Amino acid sequence: RGIAPMRAAVLYAPGPPDAFVIEDIATPSPGPGEVLVRVQACGVSYRDVVERKGVYRRDVTFPLVIGLEISGEVAAVGPGVAHIKVGDRVCSKAFSSCGFCSLCRNGRESTCRARRPVRGGYAEFACLPEDAWVRTPDDMPFETSCTLGPAAGVAVNAVRDTCRVQVGETVLVLGAAGGVGLPAVQLAKLAGARVIAVTRTAEKAALLHEAGADEVVVAEPDAFAAPVRALTHEEGCDVVIDTVGSRVFAAGFDSLAVHGRYACVGQLFGEDVAINPARIFFKRAQILGVGSVSRSQLQVAIRLTANGGLKPRIARTLPLDDVAEAHRLVETAAALGRIVLLPGARS
Ligand code: ZN
Repeated sequence: RGIAPMRAAVLYAPGPPDAFVIEDIATPSPGPGEVLVRVQACGVSYRDVVERKGVYRRDVTFPLVIGLEISGEVAAVGPGVAHIKVGDRVCSKAFSSCGFCSLCRNGRESTCRARRPVRGGYAEFACLPEDAWVRTPDDMPFETSCTLGPAAGVAVNAVRDTCRVQVGETVLVLGAAGGVGLPAVQLAKLAGARVIAVTRTAEKAALLHEAGADEVVVAEPDAFAAPVRALTHEEGCDVVIDTVGSRVFAAGFDSLAVHGRYACVGQLFGEDVAINPARIFFKRAQILGVGSVSRSQLQVAIRLTANGGLKPRIARTLPLDDVAEAHRLVETAAALGRIVLLPGARS
């Protein structure tokens, strides 16, 4: 059957926000095990920014249609697709995996050797293996569901499954107004913790209080340890959720209590960090790596969003033609909440 071409934002080489070319390209048709989705919304994350700049190179070849936070309606399914049907509402989960190896069978599919990244959300249709999609409730807005995988799902991974936050603990969230930070604040509060949020800009303090932060520290990346320690009677925090990386690590580790858990969730800059290993054992600290999201973690994020426990904050929605503006907003962290493209809408 003849399929009309689709509009997409194509990158022919790494570059600035204006590097995207909006043009018609062939609409993919689903092969065996694949699902074609009419894209209704696609979140724009910092990961998209580093892919556009050519900093993130894993599995990247040009020309390229990026965008991994996709939601929409199933338009067609290929042979052998068993669990998803035409008309279902779905969101993407950042990657697909084999489903059969021991990692996949133990909820550790984000490290499956056969994992394949999800891309292609900056277009009217996206075609991906069935495993890349998770069903969403019919009444959940697309601009909400697209932001859950990976961002809110990674927060579930960090707060619930990796750090195992307990009632009465103190949790410090670094980069708290970001895509993973904000749901991490909400989840730590839901888990019964006292939540301290760190952000660089005073305008984001109200947003963080609204999300459930008990205290908000507005400080530069190297200057929050003293105020955080003062808020905890010099004991420090039981858990640190670090969504920023190298530039906050020193102050973050200074803010950690003895026997604390330090979760490395993000690295926005490329530098190394230096630490005397004795500080890790003097503090009896656990340094924990958090990566991506499993299907069950994303399903938890969807369920919590449906029942109001998680409240994704959408700062702006923009048509595909405004993709450059969307990237400028994300790169400068100018928005209070998530930036979402609507590839089905025209400006
Ligand atoms: Zn596998």
